[in-house]
Amino acid sequence: MNNILTAIGEALIDFIPDKSGCAFGDVTAFAPKVGGAPANVCAAFARLGGKSRLLTQLGDDPFGHKIIHELEAVGVDTGCISLTDKANTALAFVSLAENGDRTFSFYRKPSADMLYDAESVKEEYFDGVFALHFCSVDIGNFPMKQAHKRAIEIMRQRGGIVSFDPNLRFNLWESREALQSAVREFIPMSDIVKLSEDELEFVTGAKDISMGAHNLFGQGVKLVLYTCGNKGAYAFTRNTHAYAPSYKVDAVDTTGAGDGFTGSFLWTLKYICSGREKLEEISTENLMECLEFANKFCAMSVQKKGAIASYPTADEMQIINF
Ligand code: ATP
Ligand code: MG
Repeated sequence: MNNILTAIGEALIDFIPDKSGCAFGDVTAFAPKVGGAPANVCAAFARLGGKSRLLTQLGDDPFGHKIIHELEAVGVDTGCISLTDKANTALAFVSLAENGDRTFSFYRKPSADMLYDAESVKEEYFDGVFALHFCSVDIGNFPMKQAHKRAIEIMRQRGGIVSFDPNLRFNLWESREALQSAVREFIPMSDIVKLSEDELEFVTGAKDISMGAHNLFGQGVKLVLYTCGNKGAYAFTRNTHAYAPSYKVDAVDTTGAGDGFTGSFLWTLKYICSGREKLEEISTENLMECLEFANKFCAMSVQKKGAIASYPTADEMQIINF
């Protein structure tokens, strides 16, 4: 049975500020944490006991080595990651203002991940793989975009599931239009699209999720996931839909919650769906189970600091009852 999750895209170091509620310039220290949405999704899946692998490129530098060590420590297969001396590992410094606004400063002009090219993507990376996941940070006009297209092409040829979480990062793009057109270019290549509340209209043009899902189905998407923070999560196919409320918990850090949602959703999905052609046949009950499980996973994650460091294992999920 194909049960491996592959993600393609950025792995980077997020520099977390020592204090929040202040301007970027007033931060006095930044702590390095391994991040990048595709890396987080792989880590969530691996923490649950699944096999996942990440397709990316890192700088042959201490930050690149740190990312490999930490992904390996949580069980992610790093055998497909290339190292280069042509660019450094991507870095992202972030500050958090009192009103919750985040300011980012990215170091990727270009970074090693952006230079990962189509030739680096090998057929054998997809042996045993049931789904390929990607995001929008690495689909700009640089070699990594073609690497995404190649990976998607291989996954589709093999009947596997292609999953896309746009995870919009506006300040990485020269304009909102450039990001929108890149996201919209990749939607028709995707079987699953995950949106959060603040991404719905930008991606689909619709203010309402039923309309938005309908728009995405028209482009060939088979399953739409819609997460609304503490207000619950929805799944839509052409045939049915499901909703599961979020758990009531005291959230201390929601970093990586969306990625944890995707990783844990896909973890359950692999038991109930054998390939892209079966996605639309999933029952309401099964969709509900996937949502329930992902909400529980995320509820545990948001109660701890960090992204990867906050993801629970399958055993930890058994023990905790809310
Ligand atoms: P990200 O900022 O990581 O991209 P996102 O916007 O994609 O996140 P959210 O909808 O914010 O995703 O969160 C994903 C999931 O995490 C939710 O569906 C829910 O299960 C859980 N979650 C997020 N915030 C909370 C909260 N305050 N309490 C309980 N669960 C939460
Ligand atoms: Mg998100």
